[in-house]
Amino acid sequence: MTFDLDREIRRLERKLGALRAKDGLPRELVELLAATRKKQLEARAALNGGAAVTLSPEDRARRLQGAAVLPRERFAPDETISSSLFDELLALVENSGGGLAEAARQLRAAETEGRFDRAEAFRRYLADDPAYFQAVGGLTPGAPRLAAFLVQAGLAPCLEARAEAAVAPGDLDATWAHGHCPVCGSLPLIGRLKENEGLRYLTCSFCHTEYRAKRLQCPYCLEESLEKLEYFDAAGEPGFHVNVCRSCNGYIKTVDFRKMDRPSLPLLDDLESLALDILAAQEGLRRPTFSAWGF
Ligand SMILES: [Zn+2]
Ligand SMILES: [Zn+2]
Repeated sequence: MTFDLDREIRRLERKLGALRAKDGLPRELVELLAATRKKQLEARAALNGGAAVTLSPEDRARRLQGAAVLPRERFAPDETISSSLFDELLALVENSGGGLAEAARQLRAAETEGRFDRAEAFRRYLADDPAYFQAVGGLTPGAPRLAAFLVQAGLAPCLEARAEAAVAPGDLDATWAHGHCPVCGSLPLIGRLKENEGLRYLTCSFCHTEYRAKRLQCPYCLEESLEKLEYFDAAGEPGFHVNVCRSCNGYIKTVDFRKMDRPSLPLLDDLESLALDILAAQEGLRRPTFSAWGF
C-alpha cells in the first residue's frame, strides 16, 4: 500500500483542530506533538517503498501460534532517517522555550561529551529496555523522558513502515486474542470501537499497527471474566472510556466516536484523553505502557 502524505496531513490537521479547541490540554504540548507528527509523516513519505520485509514460512507460522511475526529486534530501522528526524525534533524542542528547551540543551551537551549515544539509545528501544531510559533520564532531570520521546518519535516512521510491510492483506481481519501486537509482540496503547457492532481495535505502542481484538478481554493479562472487567467514563471526556481489569489492575482507554462527528487518530486520541490517565492514576490503576509519545 502506498503512503498518501496529503491524505495523512489532512487527517492530522482535522484532528489538531479538535485538539486545539479543547480546554485543559497544555497548548505547548499540543503544538510540539503536532509538529512532531507532521515531521514523522514527512519522513514516512520519504521512506515509501524502502521498507520491504521478508518473512519466512516459519515467521508466518508463528502467527498461527499467537506469536509476533516480526519481533522488535528485527525491525532494523533506517538509521539515517531516524537520526535526522531525531535532530529535527531536538532542534524543535530546543527552540520551544521553557523547561523542555533547557533539557534539550542538556541532552545535546551530553551527546557531544559522549555521555549519551543515540545509536545505542535506538538499539535499547528496539530491545525494550526501560531501565536504560530511566538511567538516561538522569541526564535531563527537568524532563526525564526527553530522550525516550526523541528516540521513540525518531524511530516511529521506520517502525510504522516496516510493520505495514510485514502485514499481508487479510492478516489483521480476524480477531486476535493474544494480547500483544500480532506484528511485533508489544503491548497496546489505546483502543477504539468501530462499526455499528462496536468492533474493538487496539493500536500497538511500538509499531502502531491497529488490530482487531476481543471486545471483552484484558489486553494485558487476557482476563475474560465479566466480574473482573469494568469500565468508567468521565463527565468532561465524552467519547472515551477507561477499561479496567481487576485481575491485573491494568487499564486501557477506549475511544468511541461512533455516534459523534469527531476525528480519531489513535496517537493523538491518547493525548486528547490525558485527563483520563490522571483519573486512572488517582484510582490506583496501572498503565503498562507509556503514552504514544514516550512520557
Ligand atoms: Zn506492534
Ligand atoms: Zn488484566
